[in-house]
Amino acid sequence: MTGPHQTATEAWPQFVRALNGITDPVARAVLDLHSADTEPVGRGECQGCDIDGHEAERPFWPCRTVVTVAGLFGIEFPDFRNAEQYPGRR
Ligand SMILES: [Zn+2]
Repeated sequence: MTGPHQTATEAWPQFVRALNGITDPVARAVLDLHSADTEPVGRGECQGCDIDGHEAERPFWPCRTVVTVAGLFGIEFPDFRNAEQYPGRR
């Protein structure tokens, strides 16, 4: 088994690759809408979520929509909360 650091840094690109592999047209449209504002895809903000009010902030990518769609395709969003760093974090 790998340690938490290795898991976090490897799990991120795996998650992104798995998302990119989804070909269902509806899911693809939703995922393309809810894309990250960073390239390569990192811990940026979702560009697709509607926000309300002057104080509102866009959610980090992946937003709940992306995580939900991913879950429908059996793709689990890796839990980075205990990792010391997010890959691609700004
Ligand atoms: Zn979103």
